[in-house]
Amino acid sequence: MILLCRIGIRYWRWARTKLGGKHRRFVRINRSLLSNAVKPNMGKVWFNVRQIKEATNNFSCANLIGQGSFGMVYKGTLPDGHMIAVKRMKKCSVDEDSDFLNEVEIISSFQHPNLVALRGFGVASDGKDGCQRFLVYDYLANGSLDRHIYGNGKALTWEQRKNIIMGIAKGLCYLHSGVKPAIYHRDIKASNILLDDDMNACVADFGLARKTTEGESYLVSKIAGTHGYLAPEYALYGILTDRSDVYSFGVLLLEIMSGRKALDTSVACSSEYLITDWAWKLLKANRVDQMVDCRMFESGEVSTMERFVLVGILCAHVAVALRPSMVEALKMLEGEATIPAIPDKPLPQVNHRTVADGNAFLSVLDSYPSFNSFLMGR
Ligand code: ATP
Repeated sequence: MILLCRIGIRYWRWARTKLGGKHRRFVRINRSLLSNAVKPNMGKVWFNVRQIKEATNNFSCANLIGQGSFGMVYKGTLPDGHMIAVKRMKKCSVDEDSDFLNEVEIISSFQHPNLVALRGFGVASDGKDGCQRFLVYDYLANGSLDRHIYGNGKALTWEQRKNIIMGIAKGLCYLHSGVKPAIYHRDIKASNILLDDDMNACVADFGLARKTTEGESYLVSKIAGTHGYLAPEYALYGILTDRSDVYSFGVLLLEIMSGRKALDTSVACSSEYLITDWAWKLLKANRVDQMVDCRMFESGEVSTMERFVLVGILCAHVAVALRPSMVEALKMLEGEATIPAIPDKPLPQVNHRTVADGNAFLSVLDSYPSFNSFLMGR
């Protein structure tokens, strides 16, 4: 019995030393990585886990406001009354985690009313909760845009939609042209747009964003993003340019204007699964008015609504060369630049066919054109 106790105590001491060392290493490495990613004058705050626990009521379920692929998001209140959103990261290896550091580095390098603000971060490690990493943002009271545009809830008014679209466009203009090197977001979609108390839009979630040099395009091997929003040349060939974000913005604009999802496999006709195909069909039939959510028609301004829809279609054009830059798109939305005649889609290389088992993706890929026609628009 005494022998067993001794073995037990030795094991406990050994485990404590080993785990303690591992946890200390985790905190040390992460602190130094984060400090390198963020310059001291950026005003970002280090939070310790006690402060974060107090703010979020010990990560209570009542404070849970969302969940994404990177972790859970909790609402919190700082002692000065400021509301925060804490993202508790799922992946916590001792070593470098590129997505996490990428988000910190990119989001720390800008300040803009239409881009979500990072207040700080935290790294913690203890025997009870293990290794933990947190990102702390300003809390945006109206949550993500997807909750407001789909479904039968209270419809957004035209004024709100217009303001949201303009906000997203301004945020993207800033990322593409207002900072050097430019930043490509790579995951523009409804759930990555957050809305404040006054329904102003903030672009969020920079986990996939990439810094680049002006005008530079990439050939990437790992495609990241969300189905329905991916520019075809990026999804198929890995070509990444600022126009990939423009494409996603066009899709999102069409969603906001119509209340329809980017990719909706519940519709009867498989050639309309993608919002871009559906919009294109209506454009060709001269029925642009039918793309606009009828719940906002009473507010008038039909010609401006149609202008917005046309900008959406142009931004989400299948040919990269025909898409405007974000700066040009913003001018078109503001009515300061005319929208060019929207050229036809390039012809598919393979005939469109509907796959019997309803496999939308195959059907869609078949209908897309060749590499060169993507680039040239021919
Ligand atoms: P994915 O990571 O898979 O792209 P996501 O973008 O929805 O999904 P998160 O960025 O982790 O994932 O956010 C999850 C949810 O938490 C959001 O949809 C939103 O409702 C909420 N949320 C995130 N940040 C904030 C914030 N700053 N203020 C208010 N709510 C937020």
